[in-house]
Amino acid sequence: MSGPQRAAAVDDELALLHPDAHCALIHSSPFQLLIATVLSAQTTDARVNTVTPALFTRYPDAAALAGARREDLEEILRPLGFQRAKAGHLLGIGAALTERFGGEVPRSREELVALPGVGRKTANVVLGNAFGVPAITVDTHVGRLSRRLGWTTAKDPLRVERDIAALWEPQRWTDGCHRLIEHGRAVCTARAPRCGECSLLTAGLCPQAGL
Ligand code: SF4
Repeated sequence: MSGPQRAAAVDDELALLHPDAHCALIHSSPFQLLIATVLSAQTTDARVNTVTPALFTRYPDAAALAGARREDLEEILRPLGFQRAKAGHLLGIGAALTERFGGEVPRSREELVALPGVGRKTANVVLGNAFGVPAITVDTHVGRLSRRLGWTTAKDPLRVERDIAALWEPQRWTDGCHRLIEHGRAVCTARAPRCGECSLLTAGLCPQAGL
C-alpha cells in the first residue's frame, strides 16, 4: 500500500469507529463558530460550550459584540480564563466584521487570519465547518496521531497540515480531522494510548511511531 492509500484506509477505518465525529463547538452560524473557536484557545471545547449560549443570547451578531462593554464580556468569559485577552479579541472581531465585512464572516483564509485573535487553525475550522471549504485543522490530537501513524515527523502545525494534505484527498480533510480528534480523545490518548483495543493496529495501518 502506498502512503496515500494507507492514509485513506486509516480514515475509512476511523469513519467506521467514529461515525458521528463532528465539530464539538456548539454553533448555529459562521459568526458563532468563529467566536467559539477563538474562545477555545487554551481551554476545551466542552468548557467553551458552557459560556457561549449566554454570550450569543446577549450578543447575537457582530454589531452587538462590537458595542459590548468590556467588563460585561470579561465576566461572561471568566470561566475560560484569559478573559481580558479573549474579550479584547471579541471586541476587535465585532468591530472588524461590522466595519469591513457588513457584519458577515469573510470566506477567505487571508481575510479570516487578519481578524484579531484568528490564526490559521481558527480560520481552517471556520472554512471547513461553516463554509464547506476543505480544510485541515491541526490541533494537539491531529498532530499527535499524525506522528504516531507515521504521516509526519513535524511538530509545527503548518508542516503537519502540509504532510496530511499530501496524503489525503481534500474531501477527507475537514471530517477526517474530526475523526482523528475523536480517536485521539477516545483511544489514542496522549499519555496512555490503548493500542491493544485499536483496530488500526490490527488492520496493520499504524506503525505506532514514537511509542
Ligand atoms: S495503534 Fe496505538 S498509536 Fe496507533 S492509532 Fe491506535 S492507539 Fe494510536
